Amino acid sequence: MYEKEKEQIIHTALALKEYRLIALSGGNVSLRTQQGHVLATPSGMLYETMQPSDIVVLDIEGNTVEGTRRASVDIEAILYILKKLPEVNAVIHTHQVYASAVGLVQDRLPAAVTTLPNACLGPINVAPFSSAASLEMGVMAVDYLNNKRAVILKNHGVITVGSNLKEALYSAVYLEDAAKTYIMAKVLGNPAILTEEQVEEAVGKFKPGIYGQS
Ligand SMILES: [Zn+2]
Repeated sequence: MYEKEKEQIIHTALALKEYRLIALSGGNVSLRTQQGHVLATPSGMLYETMQPSDIVVLDIEGNTVEGTRRASVDIEAILYILKKLPEVNAVIHTHQVYASAVGLVQDRLPAAVTTLPNACLGPINVAPFSSAASLEMGVMAVDYLNNKRAVILKNHGVITVGSNLKEALYSAVYLEDAAKTYIMAKVLGNPAILTEEQVEEAVGKFKPGIYGQS
């Protein structure tokens, strides 16, 4: 079941690897189907050798519906996010370096480049520390997402969300670009931050039906 969706999950994970947002078996990718099942990458497996049959199909309570692999160790947090946020269908977790670095010294990544609000809908909060592989990680993510498509987990990494895998992937990639640019600017001096009006304009320009081909 869900062969196309399983392929999309692996494709997304490989894109995350290509953009250097995850390494080896780190991070995870999850997707809620229209039927309400949750597809999740397995625990501790390399993405480059992952097959569709390695993707685990679960119900929203975490019971395995199909598959022989153990789901990501973060599955409890992922299921919590999906339960609390009905508009979210895709959840990505990465250990991306630049966004995580900002989280070590600041409580927020401000919107300094327009690509951040384009993809992530605004400045990005840093959630207080929570242990990996814990329910608390999901609770913190929901509490600090603030209607954006990304949240930085202090001393850990990043969670991005979207109504589909593409939105969550774009959020992760553009968040990292924005964090990198912001850090480079901080090295040179005091970065210019977008005004609220400029952020709103940047969000509006990338709504479905305006940007892209669909
Ligand atoms: Zn992690």
